[in-house]
Amino acid sequence: MAEEKLTMRKKIQAADRMNRIMADYFYGLDEAATTGKRKVAWCTSVGPAELLRALGYDVYFPENHAAMLGATRMSTDLIPAANAIGYSPDICSYLTADIGACLKGITPLSKAYKGIESVPKPDVLVFNTNQCRDVQDWFAWYSRRFGVPSIGVTSPKNVNDVTEAHVDDVSRQIQALVPTLEEIAGTKLDMDRLRETVSLSRECTELWKQVLETATAAPSPLTFFDGTIHMGPAVVLRGTRVAIDYYKELLAELTQRIRDGVGAVDDESSRLYWEGMPVWGRLRQHSELFSHLKASVLASTYCSSWIFPAFDAQDPFRSMAKAYLELFIVRADRYKETYLKGMLEKFRIDGIIYHDAKTCPYNSNSRYGLPQRVEAETGIPSLVLSGDLNDLRCVSDEQTKTNVEAFLEQIAEGR
Ligand code: SF4
Repeated sequence: MAEEKLTMRKKIQAADRMNRIMADYFYGLDEAATTGKRKVAWCTSVGPAELLRALGYDVYFPENHAAMLGATRMSTDLIPAANAIGYSPDICSYLTADIGACLKGITPLSKAYKGIESVPKPDVLVFNTNQCRDVQDWFAWYSRRFGVPSIGVTSPKNVNDVTEAHVDDVSRQIQALVPTLEEIAGTKLDMDRLRETVSLSRECTELWKQVLETATAAPSPLTFFDGTIHMGPAVVLRGTRVAIDYYKELLAELTQRIRDGVGAVDDESSRLYWEGMPVWGRLRQHSELFSHLKASVLASTYCSSWIFPAFDAQDPFRSMAKAYLELFIVRADRYKETYLKGMLEKFRIDGIIYHDAKTCPYNSNSRYGLPQRVEAETGIPSLVLSGDLNDLRCVSDEQTKTNVEAFLEQIAEGR
């Protein structure tokens, strides 16, 4: 009997360069922390990274580290260590995995990058609660652990329309961070440098947007699973030239794929949207599950969350505030529904997968009737997958497979 050929997701060649960039980034952080040559700031994923870079800090993102703990499937064994000191298994599994790793003195960085023994010790911790309260509690723990200040922005949430009053509030809060950050950095903020950094972030964000929008082509040259990996520089190196140069290269490769009619998934027969966090410890399995069924999961809210059209070098503080407020996660359901409908249309989507992540209610949008409302208006079917970003005890592989197969049959029958 002839062996059935399984459809696989294709490798993106630029990945090798990205791996080198990420290695340089982590070695740079390690050098800064171990030699004391440069100060290290820890920042939440959509915290004021531009301000920190402009003040000369090396910027480290614990969420990126927590995602690595998830992707390397280390997190499930580490979460109980944080539970044991009172951090509930029901709260953010980035937080519990990351604190668990610290308590156990473990990091995937040591395995990936020879010579790095630990995460870089912070001089200051800077959060923005635009995504959730957990980041503030997460940084508060490290503040006590390392004896360094944790400062940040307390953001409005569930916002339909971002108003001038919201922007004023957050802008003032970001400016209020400056004296403390200057004192720790031992330098004054150079406004030209801040403008330059905001400008670089803007350029990075525009290129990242173009990268993601290559997926409007049919077949799509990239998938959500590629996006979760290739967003690395947009997350940890925004505000730098390195990230911009990288996305130019990636964009050229994807554009060439479109010209050649090459899809990330061979014989793409359905186009899916992913709403919610990835299941980091199942990226490869999920990618293979969908590609074997000739389904391309090609667009997502998650990867698009690092697109900040508001950045404006002429008005750095207010534009940072606006960019951090306009995020999907900050918004109320009316805005989210409109956004999703726009994405479904733009990417010509056949079905939506909502990932209901047990420990992240903020990125789980299937709990208040939103899928039903979007489906009623668009006629595009949806599937809710229960799981988690990092705690694999909440993930049922068998259930996921059965549900996805049935969902794709439903889409095929609906044609
Ligand atoms: S948004 Fe979710 S995953 Fe991210 S830090 Fe907050 S609770 Fe954790």
